[in-house]
Amino acid sequence: MRVLVVEDAPDLGEQLRQRLSAEAYAVDLARDGEEGRFLGETEPYDVIVLDLGLPRIDGLSVLRHWRAKGIDVPVLILTARAAWHEKVQGIDAGADDYLAKPFNMEELLARLRALIRRAKGHASAVITCGPVALDTRSGRVTLNGEVVDLTAYEYKVLDYLMHRQGQVVSRAELTEHVYAQDFDRDSNTIEVFVGRLRRKLGNGLIGTVRGLGYRLETP
Ligand code: CA
Repeated sequence: MRVLVVEDAPDLGEQLRQRLSAEAYAVDLARDGEEGRFLGETEPYDVIVLDLGLPRIDGLSVLRHWRAKGIDVPVLILTARAAWHEKVQGIDAGADDYLAKPFNMEELLARLRALIRRAKGHASAVITCGPVALDTRSGRVTLNGEVVDLTAYEYKVLDYLMHRQGQVVSRAELTEHVYAQDFDRDSNTIEVFVGRLRRKLGNGLIGTVRGLGYRLETP
């Protein structure tokens, strides 16, 4: 899953980037409202963390701009503590959730998981497909109840396909959702990850739709 963090406080921005990367997100970090607005408009994120107090363009204006453009990615806003009017304005502007600073990192991670699940139509934190179960909280994948060891990128690919199961996902789409913007992307490596996932999880799970991409279906 790909996440955009728009946060001007250098320490918090870096802390978010590191923690989210460790949780298998592909993370882009924008340091001001202008850069954040541009990235949110041009890159296909699965979720966005948006600070409201930002240099150049404030967070509320950024959010209103995205929504006016029809960009419906889930957005969690970071508000100043006890500023209830910021929360109200943020939700009215199209935010899906909010957290007051200072916040607990585990709570932020849980809220992001929930936003991604809901946006992709899943109610439970454990997503299953036939014999395969992926626990979005622990990052644990099991096959018939047995834990399967996956590398970070194998997990990222499977995570995206599991959230989009039944739908055709192109290699280009997978590439955009498992790599951050500054990463030297090579869509051929996606094929390698899919090949390894098939070896580890059985050949029937990830189907190839000729000329279009992959589709994860209940075997
Ligand atoms: Ca700020």
